[in-house]
Amino acid sequence: TKSFRVDRYISKKLNINRRDIKLMLAQGRLVINGNVIRDVTTIVEEFDCVVLDEEVLQDKKAVYIMMNKPIGVVSATKDERHKTVLDLLPNELKAMNGDQYDLHIVGRLDLNTSGLLLLTNDSRWSRKLMSPEAKVNKVYQVTLENEVTEETVSAFSNGMYFSFEDITTQPAKLTILTKTLVEVVLTEGKYHQIKRMFGRFRNPVLALHRSSVGNLSLDPSLDTGKSRALTSDEVSAIF
Ligand code: URA
Repeated sequence: TKSFRVDRYISKKLNINRRDIKLMLAQGRLVINGNVIRDVTTIVEEFDCVVLDEEVLQDKKAVYIMMNKPIGVVSATKDERHKTVLDLLPNELKAMNGDQYDLHIVGRLDLNTSGLLLLTNDSRWSRKLMSPEAKVNKVYQVTLENEVTEETVSAFSNGMYFSFEDITTQPAKLTILTKTLVEVVLTEGKYHQIKRMFGRFRNPVLALHRSSVGNLSLDPSLDTGKSRALTSDEVSAIF
């Protein structure tokens, strides 16, 4: 929805007819990301820099942020009762020149879950990251009340049926680290998934922490509640 053919883009934005736009382009008056554009079929993307006759029509910055989410903060941009992850972001990550980025969360964490949380204003990137087909690995450290059994390991790997949503979970890898500490790798994120899966074995989750998403691990230098922008390498390497 956020990319358009350049002639449609200009006609919508400036209310100019297609014939005049064609002329405009032929005259070399349109510059996208520093290149003169003469082809009316060129596609304008959300974060392209578009300049017509030296006037900037759009120049939106794409932002990508990782946060070390603390427990007790909600993965939402607004909440009546609790502090949100957005409240934790420093201004320079939230806005530029007073203009707030339209940030959304890429894969929420529960109120009492901590660790790697991603935020962006690039919906194409987040959709790709979250798409079921991409099967991006999410790695969690889970502390449990009771000892984890081999039966639980098999159930995670075989998939579990949840009648409420009528779904069977994708194979998940459970590695036992100590009697009550395990690592779980999910390729999806159903509602309260890990807690519900251990709930089957009457084994309450005492602590849940996400350490990585795809090829991206939580930066160990980020204290709880702190955030930083992703590097462009991280943005492209995550899948
Ligand atoms: N599973 C859960 O139960 N909660 C989370 O936050 C993530 C995975």
